[in-house]
Amino acid sequence: MLQTILVPTDGSEHANKAVDLAADLAGKYDGRMVILHILLRHASAMELKALAQELGASDALLQRIAKAEDAYAETAMAAYGPVPLMVPDNILIEMGELITEAAEKRAKAHGARDFTVRVTDGAPAEVILKAADHEQADAIVMGSRGLGNLTGLLMGSVSHKVANHAVATCIAVK
Ligand code: ATP
Ligand code: MG
Repeated sequence: MLQTILVPTDGSEHANKAVDLAADLAGKYDGRMVILHILLRHASAMELKALAQELGASDALLQRIAKAEDAYAETAMAAYGPVPLMVPDNILIEMGELITEAAEKRAKAHGARDFTVRVTDGAPAEVILKAADHEQADAIVMGSRGLGNLTGLLMGSVSHKVANHAVATCIAVK
């Protein structure tokens, strides 16, 4: 019944729980797991730094993130207010690799035997919905919240949109 399970991950605690549950289900149903990460273009430098530290990123990567943070502070000061954060692509790609490597480890540890990893770019909810169609996912297992877990809302904007529009069954893990 659950042959293909799509698990989008932004590396957050909620997404980690989603990976664990998806792997458990994939193991039990002998299903395939698709681990999907969309580059973190909307994450703040603070979120990126905290996540990089948690994932055991190299000193070189941490330094590059610190540099991006400094550049952001300078631009914001010059603009007299907040401006969009432009983190260089190479940082986001490396973060994506770290996030999916960690997800792969969790998936293996929780019983998944067959999984594919995809790192891509775009608007997260749209990419997740497209990937679910393309992969013919029977279920999407995602976190109810993600990295931007600041407000008291139950669902993040990505999980909310995906749950509303997906054809496949959605599980938003708490
Ligand atoms: P918001 O982004 O609206 O501030 P949030 O970060 O708390 O809120 P979401 O972004 O909706 O919550 O994240 C919910 C789930 O959606 C995550 O746990 C993850 O499964 C998935 N997700 C969110 N962003 C990405 C991403 N860039 N790549 C892959 N999966 C993602
Ligand atoms: Mg988010």
